[in-house]
Amino acid sequence: MKKFKIHTDKEKLLHEKCREVALPLDEEKRQTILDMVEYLKLSQDDEYAKANKIRPGVGLAAPQIGVPERFYAVYLVDKEKTYEYGLVNPKILSTSVKKAYLEGGEGCLSVPEDVMGHVYRYFRITIQAYDAVSQQNVTLKLVGYPAIVFQHEYDHLDGILYYDRINRDDPFKKDPEAVAI
Ligand code: ZN
Repeated sequence: MKKFKIHTDKEKLLHEKCREVALPLDEEKRQTILDMVEYLKLSQDDEYAKANKIRPGVGLAAPQIGVPERFYAVYLVDKEKTYEYGLVNPKILSTSVKKAYLEGGEGCLSVPEDVMGHVYRYFRITIQAYDAVSQQNVTLKLVGYPAIVFQHEYDHLDGILYYDRINRDDPFKKDPEAVAI
């Protein structure tokens, strides 16, 4: 496995908007994205993560590995469905009115200490991108937990971290429109 250096929120790079990726994707970049997916997959293996001193993750965006470009990897299993993607130049086409948040709060490989509070996101999104895993354009309709993960990663491309979305004065402020996941 390629061992990535994960950049943290101490670095300016994590707070800046990333630039579009030139398509068609060059082979080197595609390999990087596949390596990111593999990194996530292995990070979810407890023994492997422990032995290699890496934190488990379900998403990894380019700025987190030091590249200020618009792509990210996702690897997660939710409700028996596997989401394995390397999205390049993603665009969120539509969102639900309904909001959702993770009851236990969000975490991020670039934020060493968890920041507690509700992060409200759209319950449902439709996202379009070039997918480096399947090597084709994809349009994904995501609901619930996967929708939250893809939005968290998308935010990285705009230099937004999850704690930027937590209400400063009242981190657990209730939103009656939102469902807990
Ligand atoms: Zn993150």
